[in-house]
Formats: sequence, structure tokens, C-alpha cells
Amino acid sequence: MKLSKFCPICGKEVKKLYENLCKDCFKEKYKDAIKLESTEVHIKNCVICNSYFFGDKKERLNSIELAMKEFLNNLKEKFDSAEIIEEGNKVLCAVSKNFGNIKISKTFELKIKIKKIKCEKCVKIMLGKSSATLQLRSEKWNEILNFINKVSENRISDFCYITQYYQNGFDMNFSSEKFLFEISNLLIKNFKLKRKLTKKLVGFKGGKKIFRTTILLTE
Ligand SMILES: [Zn+2]
Ligand SMILES: [Zn+2]
Repeated sequence: MKLSKFCPICGKEVKKLYENLCKDCFKEKYKDAIKLESTEVHIKNCVICNSYFFGDKKERLNSIELAMKEFLNNLKEKFDSAEIIEEGNKVLCAVSKNFGNIKISKTFELKIKIKKIKCEKCVKIMLGKSSATLQLRSEKWNEILNFINKVSENRISDFCYITQYYQNGFDMNFSSEKFLFEISNLLIKNFKLKRKLTKKLVGFKGGKKIFRTTILLTE
């Protein structure tokens, strides 16, 4: 006597059932168990030293490929297999997971987002080399700081950072004198501040004078 097995979902007659389902319905049932938290891969790239960083990790990586490897390692913790496939200019990611002895695979298209940053280490190095300083003293210093951050956010090679906070303001070093002038002119215009410029001789380099420029902005 032949024993027939029928899948209760699709009604198909099969030799073997998996958790009481045919292979196709079993795969369908677990299909949604395979998903990525996000198909976006966030990578940061320092515009000064060209290091790469995966997500919010601090570890510096030499190439975008190494950052992708970090992403893959994260997936390998969650799935039984994971690999990156390049298809034309698309980057795909194939993952699979075993349920009993059935392997369910899925492929996702990844969106690789690279954010240009200035890494912590580079900013620290620049801090020691800067020869352009802004001294800002104003009741509205918080609002002014937001304004400066907004302007400098999308700059590639210009940057600035606070070196000292005061009750009514802050001191800020700039990556160049040009950027310091640009920002202070914007602040004077937008916040009606007064400017006092000082240039102090701090040394010589190749026979040329080196000045430290300080701009004091007050209400
Ligand atoms: Zn079925
Ligand atoms: Zn860097």
C-alpha cells in the first residue's frame, strides 16, 4: 500500500513533508525569516587621511573593501552564509540560513552610503597646527555655534573645532585663515557682531614670517 502525503497549504502530493508542509510551502513560510536590518551600508571616509570606518566603529580601515568585509562579518553572525556579489554597478548580498535540512537563500541589493568626514585623529593633529583662531563672545553663542556647524558640515577640506568654552562663548581653531575669514564675515552679517583682528608673529618658515591670526567677535 502506497502512503500519499499531501501538503495542507497547496494540496500537492509529495514524498516528504517538512514540518507538515511541502518543500515549496516550507520555504515560503520561512522566507520572511531572512531579512537584513537594513540594505544600506554606512561607511565613513576621512578626507584627510583617507581611512575608512564601518558604521560607528572606531577601527581604521585602508579600503572600502575592508569596510565591506566588516559588514559581511556582521551578517555571518546572523546567517549560515553571506557573500557579496558585484553585478555591473550593483552590489548584491546573498545570505542563507538552514532550517532543518532545507537551506533558504535570499539576495538583497545593497545601497552603499559613503559619508565624507574628518576623523578624530586628523582633527587632533590639525588642532596643533592651526594658526587661525576665532574668539567668539556673545549671549547668542549657542545659536552661532549651530550656524557655524551648518556651514562647515559639508566642507571637504575646511574645518574648525572648539578649543575652549567660556560662559559667554568659545575659542575655535580653523583649518585655514581663509576659512576663518569666510566664517567670521558670515557671522558679522548674520548676527551683527563687531570684529577685532590681530596678527601675531609666531615664527619663520623658509625665511617667511608666520603669523597667528585671531579674530575676536563681540556683540
Ligand atoms: Zn505546499
Ligand atoms: Zn583622518
